[in-house]
Amino acid sequence: MKERLGLILLGPPGSGKGTQAKLLTEKYNIPQISTGDILREAVKQRTELGLKAKKFMNQGELVPDDVVVGIIEERLRKEDCERGFVLDGFPRNIEQAHALEGILKKLNSQITQTINLAVGEEELLKRLSGRRICRECGEGYHIIFNPPTNGGICNKCGGELYQREDDQEDTIKARLAVYAEQNAPLIKYYQGKGLLHRVEGKGSIQQIVERIITTIEGTRRDD
Ligand code: ADP
Ligand code: ADP
Ligand code: ZN
Repeated sequence: MKERLGLILLGPPGSGKGTQAKLLTEKYNIPQISTGDILREAVKQRTELGLKAKKFMNQGELVPDDVVVGIIEERLRKEDCERGFVLDGFPRNIEQAHALEGILKKLNSQITQTINLAVGEEELLKRLSGRRICRECGEGYHIIFNPPTNGGICNKCGGELYQREDDQEDTIKARLAVYAEQNAPLIKYYQGKGLLHRVEGKGSIQQIVERIITTIEGTRRDD
């Protein structure tokens, strides 16, 4: 038996973490855990969590660590994570990485690979400004690079597509600045553990998922 996968996708906003995480969940039959998706759902439902998170998200800032760490712990405790998991958008800073390690220890689980998606800034701006999301199921599209078959409507569920409020130019800049500030220590941390794998993130969505799978299979241990 191959070991259970505990994957982290790292990379700047727009690097394709969400897109790739969805493909990996299909390939490996493991759940995608996206703090961004969970927070957006909470905002939509106007829960207490959503009300707390909204102002940070709209300004392109990180939601406080205690909030997202709580979300992650609750999610990782669910039964489906016993098969493994792919984290997308968490951890975002070194404090979150430390908290994650503590949670996984308690659950007798671990990170097996961290994939760092490398994409240049010019490409990120193009991807983020053309991103569209399904209001119903959260599927991601791009008006040019990954358009839906029927303009404005989700291929998977027929839901309406919308542009995220934080995918406007000013907020994009703020998010990229937050990333630039927080990411280096994270990279170092996972590099130090021998878990970090850089994957070139430019190319077709299919090419990139193949690169990621090759990386995973090349480093996956037997149980
Ligand atoms: P992240 O989760 O890292 O912010 P997404 O997966 O949402 O990134 O991708 C950002 C945007 O770029 C989306 O509109 C998506 O459709 C598009 N995209 C994803 N992968 C690629 C790719 N390899 N080439 C071109 N566009 C891509
Ligand atoms: P992207 O990949 O395009 O940056 P996400 O959907 O991952 O977008 O995140 C959107 C917003 O949700 C972030 O700008 C931040 O406000 C909040 N968020 C998501 N994940 C985290 C996290 N791990 N820590 C703090 N805030 C987060
Ligand atoms: Zn949909």
